[in-house]
Amino acid sequence: MRVYNFSAGPGMLPLEVLERVKRDIPDYENSGMSVMEMSHRSKPYEKINDTAEALMRELMNVPSDYDILFVQGGATNQFSAVPLNIGTVNKKADYVITGNFAKNAYKEGAVQLDAKAAASSEDKNFTYIPELSPDMFRRDADYVHICYNNTIFGTCYDNAPDTGGIPLVADMSSMILSRTVDVSKFALIYAGAQKNIGPAGVTVVIVRHDLTDRADPKCPVMLRYDNQVKNKSLYNTPPCFSTYVVAEVLKYLKECGGVAKIQKINEKKAAKLYDYIDGSDYYVNSVDKRFRSIMNVPFISPNKDLDAAFVAQAAENGLVSLKGHRLVGGMRASIYNAMPPEGVDALIGFMEKFKKQNKV
Ligand SMILES: *Cc1c(COP(=O)(O)O)cnc(C)c1O
Repeated sequence: MRVYNFSAGPGMLPLEVLERVKRDIPDYENSGMSVMEMSHRSKPYEKINDTAEALMRELMNVPSDYDILFVQGGATNQFSAVPLNIGTVNKKADYVITGNFAKNAYKEGAVQLDAKAAASSEDKNFTYIPELSPDMFRRDADYVHICYNNTIFGTCYDNAPDTGGIPLVADMSSMILSRTVDVSKFALIYAGAQKNIGPAGVTVVIVRHDLTDRADPKCPVMLRYDNQVKNKSLYNTPPCFSTYVVAEVLKYLKECGGVAKIQKINEKKAAKLYDYIDGSDYYVNSVDKRFRSIMNVPFISPNKDLDAAFVAQAAENGLVSLKGHRLVGGMRASIYNAMPPEGVDALIGFMEKFKKQNKV
């Protein structure tokens, strides 16, 4: 039996995609083999690789002067790849600290260059996104790095901040393709696939082409964007199977009507859950309403014992992986693209039942 999986990552995938993948496993498009067994230099795999890129470009409306890469190492590897590739002119970069991943990116940046925390929301346990203006950044910074959606704390930017022309880099791991984004406002976007668009093992990098000419000579070859661009992400054996599943998810997303359509559905799901929490007089989400994520919804019950009971009983009812991150506690419902509205309804139904049975 399938459950409603609220895991923050790897997250749920659409059942339709899983069924297609299952159908294709012994024999992909009459090749006589599955994609797992296929040479990455073969015609069918080249087509998969091209399809993933073309659909990504189409769905995100990526301008033609941007390259799209499918690489390994997770979003975390990009914490090092970004400074080594584009932080090389003045060797300075400014970071906005809005959570754990943002901080990890900053720490890794500091290994390679002069990294500065330009703003932070740690004073209020990352429950908001700091107000940003161009004068907060060093004019000679090679880039400004932000984490667009903060998976652990449940905050999200409402727009790309104005950096006054400094290239803007965004980690979009937990919101890519959940809502429309104007790619032209960013110099570089990266995202691990396993939250919203596929299995673990592949990371999407969207980089403005003119920024791929400045890699540090000491940058490892696998991290070099120019190398990956030149080889269409096929410099060495790529994560073939993961990229193939991503391509299937993108096809499915297109069939569903694209990003604007899924955004409407996502906003509706999230609004329903937040409205229930806010009106419950029992559950609390402490994120500043202006910056609430539509992907990750952390909440607490009246006390820690009830939190633990909630997580356990929810799982018995087919609502799994609701335990909050250890930095926040309580619960967290990750409601990525693949979480159907019925899953959110079932969660709200359970929350109401639990509240009635556990009065304080
Ligand atoms: C999960 C996550 C990461 C880490 O991703 P890996 O692919 O495991 O390296 C980084 N940033 C954000 C925003 C995430 O949600």
